[in-house]
Amino acid sequence: MAKLHFYNTHSRKLEEFVPINPKEVTLYTCGPTVYFDAHIGNLKIYVEWDLLTRSLKYLGYGVKRVMNTTDVGQMTSDADLGEDKMMKALKREKEKGKEITGQEIADMYTELFLHDADSLNIERPTVISPATKHIPEMIALIKMLEEKGFAYKTEHAVYFDVSKFPKYFEFSGQKLDDKNAGVRDEVVVDPDKRNPADFRMWQLDQESVMMWDSPWGKGFPGWHIECSAMAMKYLGDTIDIHTGGIDHITIHHPNEIAQSEAATGKPLAHYWLHGEFLKVNNKKMSKSAGTFYVLKDIIDKGFDPLDFRYFALQAHYRFPQNFTWESLEGARSARQLINEQAAILLTLTHEKTLPDVSGHELKERFAAFLADDLNSPGALSVMWEVVKRKELPNEVRLALLFDFDQVLGLRLEKTDTIYTEFSKDEIAEINELLNDRENAKKAKDWSKADELRDRLTEKKVRVIDTSAGPVPLLL
Ligand SMILES: [Zn+2]
Repeated sequence: MAKLHFYNTHSRKLEEFVPINPKEVTLYTCGPTVYFDAHIGNLKIYVEWDLLTRSLKYLGYGVKRVMNTTDVGQMTSDADLGEDKMMKALKREKEKGKEITGQEIADMYTELFLHDADSLNIERPTVISPATKHIPEMIALIKMLEEKGFAYKTEHAVYFDVSKFPKYFEFSGQKLDDKNAGVRDEVVVDPDKRNPADFRMWQLDQESVMMWDSPWGKGFPGWHIECSAMAMKYLGDTIDIHTGGIDHITIHHPNEIAQSEAATGKPLAHYWLHGEFLKVNNKKMSKSAGTFYVLKDIIDKGFDPLDFRYFALQAHYRFPQNFTWESLEGARSARQLINEQAAILLTLTHEKTLPDVSGHELKERFAAFLADDLNSPGALSVMWEVVKRKELPNEVRLALLFDFDQVLGLRLEKTDTIYTEFSKDEIAEINELLNDRENAKKAKDWSKADELRDRLTEKKVRVIDTSAGPVPLLL
């Protein structure tokens, strides 16, 4: 099989993937903030990391994947500026007349996120856990950084001192001047902050509904420390792959790297993968323009969540994708055609054993696309070839579709056919009607053929004519 390569944001190069232990590739994904709905742009990125996990397994690796849910510490700006997002969410719910606690908000949105992820057939990570369950680990890590001279405390916060970590700007490729520009928006001016790019690991001057005692005083952790602490706890000092959105390249990931690497002296991750943004109507998604869509908006318009999964797979994760309702309709039609093909093949090969397709030329090509930095549009094109290559035996085509679906996750194995819906007697009756219809057609008795088709329709069966003869499918 083709060798797996990833585009590594750290080196800005396509690199061959060499895991620490192929039996257990370690993977950390920055998880969702659970104070508000995940929009379809967020969900698209989680479909991409699901593709990553499934591809790794398909290509023969074992995977241990960890994801946090951010239920504390994220401010309205990534650079620790602005308001605590949880306080903002509480205000929003209060305005709606809801008396709700911070924990209840986090639980509610975590539940909603998991429900969306399940509907999109996104496999659950090995560990998915809220940041607030790891406060002692975060405190221990900040203490370690303080002892090693990377941290300092002011009246306002405990900061990471970036001047002590010379590699700080290497990851983002930014210069110190770029950082200075952002700092002008700072809400709480801290005169004791040493460098503009220093970031908060423990907040002391912000109000939040969730506060903890710490060696530095009562407060709550910064957003970045949760990922460093959780990756270290579950996956060790150095992990294979770290993923996130492209918005994490300038602040969140350099901060994670600084904290983890200053503490351990080892690289935090060998490969850094970042997913591009989703646009709507070629513009940034926005609430004011009415283009801030959540999965429910898609379902309310009559789409299946898997239509959105198919849509997301049509673009490579490193390239921007544009969402329009027309493009989602296109994805739906394509997915339905593949489903129909699976239903036909399932019906034609009923009770037959499917062959082993390892080594098949189409499987090799499918795997090669995945190995080429997760080329999902290429992988989909090979699935379409299976649909179109009617000269291949039906068993082989179905086995290939099922095989590819382990990665694409379109739930083809769950396709309903007459065999899953009807009893033996009903199936015998359907087959008889089909036979009679064929005979009527041969005898050019069109009115009888039409009548028999109507009787099949009454039974909620439609007939597709294929080169292997008529195939009864569910209506
Ligand atoms: Zn993170």
